[in-house]
Amino acid sequence: VIEFSNGVKIGGANRPVYMVGPCSVEEDYSGLLEVAIAAKEMGCQFLRGGAFKPRTSPYDFDGLGEKALKYLAKAKEETGLLVVTELMDVADLDMVCEYADLIQIGARNMQNFDLLKAVGRLHVPVLLKRGMSATIEEWLMSAEYIMSEGNHNVILCERGIRTFEKATRNTLDLSAVAAVKRMSHLPIIVDPSHATGRRWMVESMAMAAIAAGADGIMCEVHNDPEHAWCDGAESITPETFEHMMGDLRKLAPIVGR
Ligand code: PEP
Ligand code: MN
Repeated sequence: VIEFSNGVKIGGANRPVYMVGPCSVEEDYSGLLEVAIAAKEMGCQFLRGGAFKPRTSPYDFDGLGEKALKYLAKAKEETGLLVVTELMDVADLDMVCEYADLIQIGARNMQNFDLLKAVGRLHVPVLLKRGMSATIEEWLMSAEYIMSEGNHNVILCERGIRTFEKATRNTLDLSAVAAVKRMSHLPIIVDPSHATGRRWMVESMAMAAIAAGADGIMCEVHNDPEHAWCDGAESITPETFEHMMGDLRKLAPIVGR
């Protein structure tokens, strides 16, 4: 069980936690705040948003850097939500630590061993996303890299793996939830946004993840998905998000969460 400064706990018999927000933090602070307020009202614990974005194309928007971190801090101050954001480079570690309650290591860096060891020397909890072509064993070994340096506060995040299937951006491996529960003591959450790449699939896959025993959900919510600077196709609106949270809250007790 990983515990945060404000008493939020992830894992064990605790209720599922919810981490929501835009893929990347954008110039428009009011959009971020709108999502953060909706998240708080719906009982979420974390605001997500990338300040440093790993983009496939070097010509795509790659994040606002410290400005984004400051926006997240401001939204945290206004809502009380904890902040989860990605760290891509050891050089930014001190800066990101100033703002993040939970440091995200992205799928593309799951085997960046120097980065893993660097966050392993901290006490800040780490959210380790599964590499898009990583086996569960490789993923757990990456978690081990972090823990072997002394930081045992690791949360795993299944975000879909690459398969031959093209109907979805990735293939959500829900069996990873069951496998991790058997193989490891670490909490595991599911990201149905990157796993599907399709906003209309997000709600049903979030429901399936909770039914499968996930300790939480990370999901992309944007005030105007059609015009999002990153991952609009998989981002849901605050309205859809509110509907989803209503359904998740009904489902959780039925499956013993
Ligand atoms: C993200 O969460 O914004 C992200 C880039 O995810 P992933 O590393 O899983 O692709
Ligand atoms: Mn994204």
